[in-house]
Amino acid sequence: MPGASRFALETRPPADGSTRARLGRLQLRHGVVETPQFMPVGTNATVKALTPDDLHDAGATIILANTYHLYLRPGHERIARLGGLHRFMAWDRPILTDSGGFQVVSLGDLRVVDDDGVTFRSHLDGSLHRFTPEHAIAVQEALGSDIAVALDQPVAPAASSRELVADATERTHRWAERSLAAHARPGQAIFGIVQGGLEADLRAASARFISGLPFDGICLGGLAGDETPEQRDATIDIAVAELAEDPRPRYLMGLGSPADLLEAVHRGVDLFDSVMPARVARNGQLWVPGGKMNIRNGRYLDDPAPVQEDCPCLLCSRFSRAYLAHLFRARELLAYRLATCHNLTFTLDFMARIRAAIRSGTLSASLPELRLRAGRVSGSEAAVKSA
Ligand SMILES: [Zn+2]
Repeated sequence: MPGASRFALETRPPADGSTRARLGRLQLRHGVVETPQFMPVGTNATVKALTPDDLHDAGATIILANTYHLYLRPGHERIARLGGLHRFMAWDRPILTDSGGFQVVSLGDLRVVDDDGVTFRSHLDGSLHRFTPEHAIAVQEALGSDIAVALDQPVAPAASSRELVADATERTHRWAERSLAAHARPGQAIFGIVQGGLEADLRAASARFISGLPFDGICLGGLAGDETPEQRDATIDIAVAELAEDPRPRYLMGLGSPADLLEAVHRGVDLFDSVMPARVARNGQLWVPGGKMNIRNGRYLDDPAPVQEDCPCLLCSRFSRAYLAHLFRARELLAYRLATCHNLTFTLDFMARIRAAIRSGTLSASLPELRLRAGRVSGSEAAVKSA
């Protein structure tokens, strides 16, 4: 229900306008989340290869689980019968479930969107399904997440016509109202999604419309896709300007590289999620201060040093580059766990450094140093630089 979370700003952006970054505390049913914060993604009720203890040790305080995936398998009703998502996956901290809209559009085959909802085929077995705003809320209520998100119709930011963006944004607004009307689970917060693509007037109008509804938080959707960093920055600026005095948390969905996170925090965003740190880890790409290390590179086979000297993670505290390089070459399962622990530790530590800089009022002065630490880890096709 609206009001199931509390968000308090501890440090407001400075009056000189040098940054719009702010520090906050989001109180949810299963605990407090300090913002700005990054949410690791547990698609199938697991952050791939990690245990809940691994996540805890990496510094995770909230994770995201995918409504679409859990609805299809093992089924939200089954999870509810087994005591809800927290008990099912043995994670006792906050969980946000997404709306399912993005996965329906990106994974579902033969989807047909009408004003009432979206019909799609499962990417698992081709079976036919239908999500309406009411049904997407019912699924998330059954899962029992701390934060539910209203069903939206995302479109590819750069590749969509203005007509398509306008149509999807209007529909998202009507679905937002229906989602709020349907939502009834006590103790579960609900966030709404701003769309509007890269169209400045549509994005501003969407931010005004969604923030006019009694949601607990405001998501910025339809970004972290095919847009350029400049287009993304401009779109964030438009939405944040509309939300300037709004007291609720702002969540940019799908952004995950440290460099991108830093710029979005600087522009006034509080929450993020992405599969990126874990996905690139499973490909052997380790994030380290100043850049990336591709552990598949043959030169690491004889390297006794840890991946990152001062990193407290499961990988760096006990194992060498040589060992991890061997595990990847031998396709040993432990490689995926260790590499994922490291990249999530790096990402969550980076967010903690950003929060510390905001707290001390030095974020704008620290930007060059933080950008250097984030390296050129930006976007999906970032230049590869060995550390
Ligand atoms: Zn590490």
